[in-house]
Amino acid sequence: STLPFFRQLNELEGIPVINVHLWFDRKLNSLDGLCFSRSPLLSVYADMSTCCAEYASDDKSMLELVFAPCSPAAGSDVNWIAKSDEEIVDASLGELARLFPSEIARDPNWPATAAQGSTGKATLLKHAVVRVPRSVYAATPGRNKYRPSQETPVPNFVLAGDFTSQKFLGSMEGAVLGGKLAAEVIVDQAAATSTRGVKAVLPEVAAAAVGVSEREPVGVRGAYPIAFGGGQQGVGAKCLHP
Ligand SMILES: Cc1cc2nc3c(=O)[nH]c(=O)nc-3n(C[C@H](O)[C@H](O)[C@H](O)COP(=O)(O)OP(=O)(O)OC[C@H]3O[C@@H](n4cnc5c(N)ncnc54)[C@H](O)[C@@H]3O)c2cc1C
Repeated sequence: STLPFFRQLNELEGIPVINVHLWFDRKLNSLDGLCFSRSPLLSVYADMSTCCAEYASDDKSMLELVFAPCSPAAGSDVNWIAKSDEEIVDASLGELARLFPSEIARDPNWPATAAQGSTGKATLLKHAVVRVPRSVYAATPGRNKYRPSQETPVPNFVLAGDFTSQKFLGSMEGAVLGGKLAAEVIVDQAAATSTRGVKAVLPEVAAAAVGVSEREPVGVRGAYPIAFGGGQQGVGAKCLHP
């Protein structure tokens, strides 16, 4: 769009993130809840066998881990998102070996576990790697002012989503609040009561939009989950929706 309101979205850049799913042959000593890890590669993780009914198991752990930062744009030295599943899983196991030093086994299939002692017994049964090339917008300083209001200058077109203007960052909380505020706009407009209005666009964004010409929309490229904003396993024609 050439409208300054939508041009401000160019200032919000989605960052890549990887989700790693690991099934172990036994139960790890984990907590019932989401854990923030001290690993530089694994930001948060949860043992789904303990904290999620769908994966509940008393004798085998299933870990879901957020592997981030995973690209130079997000602050990593390594472009992990371009690596193979095996390289990503090996790096994850190397970090887990540090987080669970007495539980993760030394496994010749996974070189990063080579330094494990003999007490570790847990080995990997299977794994899945889900790549999300455009996750939440990068919360670099100064981004908030570019987040658009839910109400837009286009009649009957309302935005919902974690990136829209509200008090939370791009997150589940932000998604819920952004959705509530979008619903509020729709209800207020339907009832012909006043809304909070369209958030003002910064003068520099408006100035940069002058003279910008319309382009044909690129459209959705490919029929893969990533093309629709989802995460996917594998690449090219061999991909799967998780
Ligand atoms: C790996 C990972 C871990 C995360 N961990 C956390 C966490 O621990 N805590 C937290 O608070 N947040 C976390 N987040 C962020 C959180 O998931 C997002 O902030 C939140 O889901 C955003 O919700 P949303 O409704 O704005 O957008 P989304 O959930 O992205 O919903 C947008 C929907 O639109 C669909 N869509 C896209 N294009 C089209 C189209 N053309 N036609 C139809 N449908 C379309 C997409 O498929 C998607 O379902 C994480 C995100 C990722 C990727």
